[in-house]
Amino acid sequence: ESFTDMCLHPNIMKDIALHEYTRPTSIQAQAMPAALSGRDLLGCAETGSGKTAAFAIPMIQHCLAQSPIHRGDGPLALVLAPTRELAQQIEKEVKAFSKSLESFKTAIVVGGTNIAEQRSELRAGVDIVVATPGRFIDHLQQGNTSLSRVSFVVLDEADRMLDMGFEPQIREVMQNLPEKHQTLLFSATMPVEIEALAQEYLSKPVQVKV
Ligand code: AMP
Repeated sequence: ESFTDMCLHPNIMKDIALHEYTRPTSIQAQAMPAALSGRDLLGCAETGSGKTAAFAIPMIQHCLAQSPIHRGDGPLALVLAPTRELAQQIEKEVKAFSKSLESFKTAIVVGGTNIAEQRSELRAGVDIVVATPGRFIDHLQQGNTSLSRVSFVVLDEADRMLDMGFEPQIREVMQNLPEKHQTLLFSATMPVEIEALAQEYLSKPVQVKV
């Protein structure tokens, strides 16, 4: 399996080449074709496996296939991650793979940072939001953003999000998505709570494990 076989947008291919990613890692080879085909995904993978690119690249490709943003539009894709540090790493990778795509906007929404700045960024319209669950729900409740156009969701390090008590916020998001959406759930461990969440919110997921 190679990136060339995945029918990626030429600009994404350019960014992959810039990164000197010559071949997909195991999780990428397993997860990307499924995610690119529109399937839900349950991925058992740890940090260091290359899981960020495994979801970021299909997510960007998905957004490219949707209508462009207009001022004030809510995001097309949402990534929820347990910590600010992880969200920042994810945002960096998303930006790296969408660098050559003009006017593609990514916002990071995490606690402990200026909420007013995030509000104006969200209100201006974005394609992708990378967020920690608590802060994202705050913005949702304040009407700064919406789930109305979200058709691609990633729950990253889902086991850690549950450990940190974010289950209500995850459920709040999952229950209010538009009917037609694709969900990718990544977790380093698969306790029964994660299996239950997957059972409830994923539709016929492809399961991958590294
Ligand atoms: P992650 O598991 O997403 O945190 O990625 C771990 C590290 O692997 C990051 O520094 C990535 O930049 C790097 N990486 C991801 N995919 C590839 C690839 N296909 N080839 C080489 N390095 C990669």
